[in-house]
Amino acid sequence: MPELPEVESIRLTLAKHTLGKKILDVEILWPPVAVSWFDRNFAELLKGRMIDSIDRRGKYLLINLSKGLTMIVHFRMTGRLIYYTEKQPVDKHTHIVFFLDDEGEIHYSDVRKFGRIQLVPTQEAIKIPSLAKLGPEPLNESFTFDKLGQRLANKKCKIKAALLDQRTIAGLGNIYVDEALFRAGIHPGKSTNTLKVSEIILLYNSICDTLTEGIKAGGTSFRDYRDADGKKGLFQESLMVYGRGGKGCKVCGSLLVRGKIAGRTTVYCPTCQK
Ligand SMILES: [Zn+2]
Repeated sequence: MPELPEVESIRLTLAKHTLGKKILDVEILWPPVAVSWFDRNFAELLKGRMIDSIDRRGKYLLINLSKGLTMIVHFRMTGRLIYYTEKQPVDKHTHIVFFLDDEGEIHYSDVRKFGRIQLVPTQEAIKIPSLAKLGPEPLNESFTFDKLGQRLANKKCKIKAALLDQRTIAGLGNIYVDEALFRAGIHPGKSTNTLKVSEIILLYNSICDTLTEGIKAGGTSFRDYRDADGKKGLFQESLMVYGRGGKGCKVCGSLLVRGKIAGRTTVYCPTCQK
């Protein structure tokens, strides 16, 4: 599933090609993916609108269109939004094609079909329930280690579960939680109410660093992820634990443990993470 760095990479690459472009037409090949708040047809409402700006909130992409409409894209497991400079054939996984006034096309495709694109009034976008409940953006200046500490103090659960919960912080998923906990030297099964201030500071720094490096690398392409140029990210080459269960720790050489914590596959180092 695209996490914060992947959605941010899609935002950056899509904005590079499409800002200021007009949507001339829209073809919907698999209707359930397109969800509209309006009585009028999704495709009809988009025709003639300009792509004004593209924002991100957690793992959601917000494509702001002229005259007050926003498309909220939630990629879920395997959603992809790719820009092509010219006409591009569709395949069985292409669900929506947006035709732009530069003869380019944006294709939304999704093998697993869990992703959705919601069309909402721009002023309502951040108020829809799935966005309204999101915790702070970890890379915003206003997010400090104090705030992280306060949010964790309100929970009594395993740290892995707390960080996966989008109400604690927005944008982290299985990859970046495992990586951030490894860098902080914190065992994923540790209870949030036993964390010392020094551990919260380490965790805060490791979350910010891991996400920032993930964005710089264009995201992690472990399986399906591609940016809006159709390119893979490179962060998988820097992963310390995610996807490396049973292999040697890059720091101490111990065999990395792969188990289930908070209901999710979790990889950690039994020596480096206490
Ligand atoms: Zn280790």
